[in-house]
Amino acid sequence: MTNPFAALGVAPIVNACGPMTRLSGGLMRPEVAAAMAAAAQACVDVAVLQDAAGAKLAALSGAEAGMVTCGAAAGLMLGAAACIAGLDPAAMNALPFAKGLPNEILMAKSQRNFYDHAVRQVGARIVDVGLPDRYSGAGSRDAELWEFAAAINERTAAILYVAQPEAEPDLAELAALAAERGVPVLVDAAAALPPVANLRAFIAAGAALVAFSGGKLVGGPQASGILIGRRRLIQSALLQQLDHDVGFAQWTPPPLLRDAALAGLPHHGVGRPAKVGKEQIVGLMTALELFLAENPAERWRRWHARCLRMAEGLAGLPGASITLRGRVEQEAPPVVVLDFPARTPAEVGALIKRLQDGSPSVRVNASERRQSRILLGPACLRAGEEATVVARLRAEVEG
Ligand SMILES: *Cc1c(COP(=O)(O)O)cnc(C)c1O
Repeated sequence: MTNPFAALGVAPIVNACGPMTRLSGGLMRPEVAAAMAAAAQACVDVAVLQDAAGAKLAALSGAEAGMVTCGAAAGLMLGAAACIAGLDPAAMNALPFAKGLPNEILMAKSQRNFYDHAVRQVGARIVDVGLPDRYSGAGSRDAELWEFAAAINERTAAILYVAQPEAEPDLAELAALAAERGVPVLVDAAAALPPVANLRAFIAAGAALVAFSGGKLVGGPQASGILIGRRRLIQSALLQQLDHDVGFAQWTPPPLLRDAALAGLPHHGVGRPAKVGKEQIVGLMTALELFLAENPAERWRRWHARCLRMAEGLAGLPGASITLRGRVEQEAPPVVVLDFPARTPAEVGALIKRLQDGSPSVRVNASERRQSRILLGPACLRAGEEATVVARLRAEVEG
């Protein structure tokens, strides 16, 4: 195949990090790319296509409804807009100015992260809950259930919860409390697939909305995602994503929107800049089917084999101890862990930079550089690139 980047003078990188957006996401299977190319050759009513994809997402996840987004962050934005505006077209038109609408979104302070801009941009104000004191070393407390109970009031639009195995409080307990108080819980589950069970788990735990990335390990287009959840909230999200440049009398609502009882059609919503194309919808659905069809243990062993090849190639690397981290039951990709006990974090950082700036550019996971560690991820490597990673690392460390 010709190199599509050559015309722009751009060389591909060797991605031993993972499906990060800044590294262009993951690799799509040829079947997914082919489905997208075919989708580009016909026009459809996007609302009808979204509706059909959403019905399938609902069936696969156990949620009442679903839709395809252009990423998990877009899902969070649309979800927040849905929680604030509901099915009131005037409120949709007013966003991001949420004056008079409940617009506070509660978040455990420990879970705050830079993706919260996605909800703030529709007019939500984030209210921190709890004071995690893990950093000080004093104790082990995080946000607690009673602190959420105390923080909910008439201005609360939602609770935003970032799904992590160690997240506190427990999602099911928080969702039960939130349901009692009539507050939806929106879950950021961007990187939570695999494990496959998570497609159902957060909904089963009581989440009102869950946002996943499609462009990470699901293998969909980089700019795709999934939003699933309560029917009324998905209806609102759909209405705020599409333009409605039609008269109300000429509008044919897709099946999911038929019972929305709208007073009129909203204008272009706050979600319109996050539109999703037919190619992304078809690509994401194709990728998700392939992802669910593959045996998770086989997928993991494929990744593990690549890690083993890198670990074997790096055996004896001066100053480094090499281990593999990850278990097959977790389903998420294992990683090669390179420990450099005699090097300072700054020296390890400099090594990472040399790998990145050399040729070919090798990108590694730098998230543990403060512990003088480099992590190598297998999921975005192309056939044979393990050897390139090994050769570049050897050259930088030994030479
Ligand atoms: C990747 C990620 C996102 C953003 O997902 P996109 O699909 O790139 O929009 C949001 N939250 C978390 C925790 C993530 O890991």
